[in-house]
Amino acid sequence: MIKKTTLIIGAGGVGRVVVHKCVQNADTFGSIVLASRTLSRCDAIKSELADANIQTRCVDADNTDELISLIEDIKADIVINVALPYQDLTIMDACIATQTPYLDTANYEHPDEAKFEYKLQWERDAAFKKAGIMGLLGSGFDPGVTNVFCAYAQKHYFDEIHTIDILDCNAGEHGYAFATNFNPEINLREVSANGRYWENGKWIETEPMEIKMLWDYPQVGEKDSYLLYHEEMESLVKHIKGLKRIRFFMTFGESYLRHMKCLENVGMLGIKEVEHKGVKIVPMEFLKTLLPDPSSLGKRTKGKTNIGIVAEGIKDGEKKKIYIYQVSDHEKCFEEVNSQAVSYTTGVPAMIGAKLMLEGKWSGDGVFNMEEFNPDIFMQELSAQGLPWQIKELEV
Ligand code: NDP
Repeated sequence: MIKKTTLIIGAGGVGRVVVHKCVQNADTFGSIVLASRTLSRCDAIKSELADANIQTRCVDADNTDELISLIEDIKADIVINVALPYQDLTIMDACIATQTPYLDTANYEHPDEAKFEYKLQWERDAAFKKAGIMGLLGSGFDPGVTNVFCAYAQKHYFDEIHTIDILDCNAGEHGYAFATNFNPEINLREVSANGRYWENGKWIETEPMEIKMLWDYPQVGEKDSYLLYHEEMESLVKHIKGLKRIRFFMTFGESYLRHMKCLENVGMLGIKEVEHKGVKIVPMEFLKTLLPDPSSLGKRTKGKTNIGIVAEGIKDGEKKKIYIYQVSDHEKCFEEVNSQAVSYTTGVPAMIGAKLMLEGKWSGDGVFNMEEFNPDIFMQELSAQGLPWQIKELEV
C-alpha cells in the first residue's frame, strides 16, 4: 500500500487531538504534516509524540498561494482544516487548485461579521466536482456527530422525523471565573448572537438567551439550557425529510453568563476596530489575549460533557421519541491526548471523517454535509475511537 500524507492545518486545542488520533491510526493517515501560523505550537504538539512520523511547518492559511505551495510540496492526500472558520475558503480554494480532498469542523465566518452560514462553502460544490475531489463540512461534534446522530435516527428509527432538539452540555469545571473551551473569539461571537430556530419552513429569531429550558442530561444532571443558532441546523433542514421543527440548546453556568453580559455591556465583545492610544485594536481580539488559552484548560478541567439529539416522529404509524447522546469525561480525555473534552469531542470526529474519506468508505465528488453519508460506519468508529454513544427511547 502506498503511504499517505495527511496535512493538518491549525495547532490549537482541536489540532492537538487530531494529531494524536491520526497517529493512533497511522496505517490510514501515513505521515503527518502539522502546519499552523505559529511553528512553536506545532513543535510542542510534535514533542508529545516523539516516535511518530510528524513534520511541522509554518503557514499563513489566509494566503491561498502559500497553502497551494505547501500542499504541492508535501503531496498531501487530504487536508484537515482545524484552524479557524475565517480560513475555510482560502483552504478550500487551495484544495480545489491542487485537487486535494478537504475536511473542516466549522462553517465559514468573515472576521468582520459575526454571521456563519454554508452559502459560500456550498457555492464551491461545482468546483469540487470539477476537480474530482470531496469536501466534508462540519466533521466535529456539533456540527458533525449531531448530524450523524440525526441521519442514524432517520435510517433506523423513523419513517419521518418531525422535531429535533440538539442538546449540548459541558458540565466541566476549570476553576477560572471565566474562560471559553474553544477559541474565545469564535465561541463568544456564537453565544452573544441572536438565537434562531426553524419551524414550519421558517427561521424564527430570538433575543440572545431568550429561550431557556431545564434538561436532565444523563450522567450529568439537570442543567439550564439556552436556545442558540447553530450551523448544523442549516443543512439538517435540507436533508431530514418531514422535519417540522429543529432547535439547538446549550448549557451555560451562571458565572459564564454574568461575565459575558458584563463584557458585552462594556463593549469588549466588539468586532470592529477602536482606537486606543493611537493604536487600532479589535476589542474581542484583545479579550482573547487576556483570557486563558483554551488548550491550557485541559489539565485543570474536571467533569463531563453530554451532547446529543432528541428526535420525535413517526414509525409504522406510531409516535416515537428517541435520545441519542455521548458522554465524555474531561480528565479521561486529558489522560489520553493532553486535551479537555471539548477539543477531544471535536478532534476525534474530524479524524474519523478523514479516515472514512481516505479509506474510500465515505466518497463522492463535491461538497457534502455529514448527514448525507451512511451513518452506520461513522457510529461504529465513534465507539471504537473513544466516543461511545447511547440510545434511549423516551415517552412521547
Ligand atoms: P484554537 O484557537 O485553539 O486553534 C486555532 C489554530 O489555528 C491556532 O493554532 C492558530 O494559530 C491557527 N490559525 C489561526 N489563524 C491562522 C492562519 N491564518 N494561518 C494558520 N493558522 C492559523 O481553536 P480550536 O482548536 O479551539 O478550534 C479549531 C476549530 O475547531 C475552529 O474552527 C472551531 O470553530 C472548531 N470547533 C468545532 C467544534 C465542533 O464541534 N464542530 C467545536 C469546537 C471547535 P496560533 O496558534 O498562531 O493562534
